[in-house]
Amino acid sequence: MYEKLDYSKLKLGIIGGGQLGKIMSQMAKKMGFYVTILDPTSNSPAAQVSDRQIVGSFFDKQKIEELVRSSDVTTFELENIDTEILKELEDSGYIIHPSPYVLEKIQNKYEQKKLLDKMGIRVPKYKEVKSTKDLSAFGFPVVQKAKRGGYDGRGVVVLKSLEDVESMAIKSESFIEEMVEIDKELAVIVARNSQGETRSYPVVEMLFDERVNICDSVVVPAFIEKDVEQTALEVSKRAVEAFEGVGIFAVELFLSKDGEILVNEIAPRPHNSGHLTVEACATSQFEQVIRAVTNLPLGSTRLITPAVMINILGEEGYEGEPILEGLKETLAIEELSFHFYGKDKTKPFRKMGHMTILDESVKNALKKAEQASKTLKVKGSKKI
Ligand code: ADP
Repeated sequence: MYEKLDYSKLKLGIIGGGQLGKIMSQMAKKMGFYVTILDPTSNSPAAQVSDRQIVGSFFDKQKIEELVRSSDVTTFELENIDTEILKELEDSGYIIHPSPYVLEKIQNKYEQKKLLDKMGIRVPKYKEVKSTKDLSAFGFPVVQKAKRGGYDGRGVVVLKSLEDVESMAIKSESFIEEMVEIDKELAVIVARNSQGETRSYPVVEMLFDERVNICDSVVVPAFIEKDVEQTALEVSKRAVEAFEGVGIFAVELFLSKDGEILVNEIAPRPHNSGHLTVEACATSQFEQVIRAVTNLPLGSTRLITPAVMINILGEEGYEGEPILEGLKETLAIEELSFHFYGKDKTKPFRKMGHMTILDESVKNALKKAEQASKTLKVKGSKKI
């Protein structure tokens, strides 16, 4: 299957033209590959740095087929895509990684959880919602999650009482989870190649903006004990191996207040929690995914320096064309790396870019990150 690949002019197809696709494409271009992006919005962030864009939706069978047929290897930067056509194409010999069969199992959060559970990996207690009655099966508060399509906290609600069930329960296919008493949210990115070899990145800690459930900053190394780190690494590796996929997998973990590591969910693609690998690790998650899906050796995941990543979110109260404020002051901060995605419109809390701040001491990196988040703002051409 891979024998035909000519690495001096390899054609890579990426489904999804957002920030993850953009940095993936930049790394593929660094390696000399020809990159085509499929995204519904023309001039998407990834298309801006790629050779070609096919404008089409992630459920447009024809456009997906066009992408796969014109690429040597196809991958994706998001889960919410049509897997039927991808499965047909993979069955007829096209290289698609992670496999659409793996994607299908991960797309449905409930099926994902069931598979992890079956493999003996600890997950929060969960139950399928077949009727409204099931929503109160664990008492309150309880977390309700849509089986499909949720991201950045959309598709997740906390129900505190029977009244909440009436007013805010998710109507689509869903399941409930016990409300875990979370001490820390951790993540591990694991790369897996077609020989089944894996390489894991150092454990990162995610800190959240209380106003919305968007991961706001990421710190490496995480502030955890050695034994917790070891467990997090082991559990993540086992979780990724359970799916037998090829590519990059981000494993989101909860460290509960009683010291247990539970798997929250797996993303079969580069992840926000791995942005800092661009500056802080020997091989970034974006180069790593390309190595994995094109059957090249996996690169070193060694941490070169502590780092903090902060998301640049659209300011509340603005939309329209993005307007950057405070860039000069922010870039004057030592060892700060600035990424701006090139999205044509801002919205409150939309991920518009990110910054990675390096320092020999995590504490100093955090201080610099705090300063940067105060000085840099993305406002918009319209007040709302
Ligand atoms: P998304 O895919 O939209 O990020 P997640 O399943 O990761 O959705 O949930 C979003 C956030 O909600 C998590 O990062 C965590 O803070 C909180 N959360 C999710 N599940 C639970 C749970 N079982 N117990 C406590 N908090 C949870």
